[in-house]
Amino acid sequence: MRKVCVVHYSEIGLKGRNRPFFEKKLVENVKRVLKGVLETEVERVQGRLVFQVDNADLLKIVESMKSVFGVSWFAFASVAEPTIDSIKKVVLEEASRKITKGDAFKVEVKRADKSFPATSLELSKIIGNALVESLGVEISLKNPSKKVYVEVLKKEAYVFTERIRGPGGLPVGSSGKVISLLSGGIDSPVASYLMMKRGCEVHYLHFHPFYDNSEAENSKIMEIVRKLLPYSGRTTVTFIPSYEFQMATVNIPAKYDLILFRRFMFKVAEKVAETEGAKALVTGESLAQVASQTLDNIFSISMGLKMPVLRPLIGYDKEEIIALANKIGTYDLSIKPYKDCCSIIARHPETRARPRVVNELEKKVNMDAIVDKSLKLSSKVIVE
Ligand code: ATP
Ligand code: MG
Repeated sequence: MRKVCVVHYSEIGLKGRNRPFFEKKLVENVKRVLKGVLETEVERVQGRLVFQVDNADLLKIVESMKSVFGVSWFAFASVAEPTIDSIKKVVLEEASRKITKGDAFKVEVKRADKSFPATSLELSKIIGNALVESLGVEISLKNPSKKVYVEVLKKEAYVFTERIRGPGGLPVGSSGKVISLLSGGIDSPVASYLMMKRGCEVHYLHFHPFYDNSEAENSKIMEIVRKLLPYSGRTTVTFIPSYEFQMATVNIPAKYDLILFRRFMFKVAEKVAETEGAKALVTGESLAQVASQTLDNIFSISMGLKMPVLRPLIGYDKEEIIALANKIGTYDLSIKPYKDCCSIIARHPETRARPRVVNELEKKVNMDAIVDKSLKLSSKVIVE
């Protein structure tokens, strides 16, 4: 019997979107995660994706599919001809392996081919009766312990007994490109993950306190990026040293150090985004989590920026962020020791930075020049 994986995506995600574009992205991403696991074509069939699995390692496929955003659920199915007899035969074979006497089951039929001679309800009755007769099981529509699913399409029908949840969201690449400001901390990897989940192609930017980019390129930053690689697919990390900023700002009031540094990061990030063709910046900021993230400071830090700054964690509690970081596997890397740029900057920043002071200081240190000089020191690493 031929075995396939049937992949369903959320219809809601398609609203107002260009469906073929969305589906093509999803196909690309499924193919990417299957590389090295299974050689197969991935087809688009009547609002689903279907690929042959036969004798492949199903556990590996499950693991791979769980990182493909846009997948609502998937199932390993046996293929039948789109006729009542063939479907009945395949259901009995499938059920005899999965259903034991005394099981209360329910048949769920979905008919994507409306020219099929029986309605969904009629077909589920026919299949139900056949199962009761041959296997002596009970039918329970309200409280089934097992289910048999049948999907009837134009060219074939699929029979399966288990639906496996995917990660939901939208296919990476279907919502455009963003630059994520990645620190070594807990929050920014989670923010990056959430943007991927909404279909963004995420590229990273990291500022480090070393003289040489190679020191940062060999740090845990790359481990974090690789941890998210199953979700992101091919991406890049731009590294930029912070010493130009540090040298130019030694004489400014310590309280404004952090505010200016964050403005410096955003200004550099905007330039990187322009070069990369990205439409927004992403940070792991969460409102009032730390002194630099008060509303006053978020205002002063973002004032005058040309690009939107997306802050997917803005309303999250630290506990919620940590739970997500654990789920996606970045937490342990985030808490590993690392020499963060911010650790060399004032511990007690101004919590109500005044825009006028910020503007004056920026003129004094010639922020634009610092940004340009720093951009010249950047390096970019491709991760795939
Ligand atoms: P995180 O856990 O992500 O480091 P945090 O709670 O430590 O966040 P901050 O250090 O104030 O908060 O940083 C806020 C955001 O600024 C980070 O989430 C990240 O997006 C960005 N950021 C901070 N430091 C850097 C850096 N060295 N390079 C790139 N982006 C940074
Ligand atoms: Mg940090």
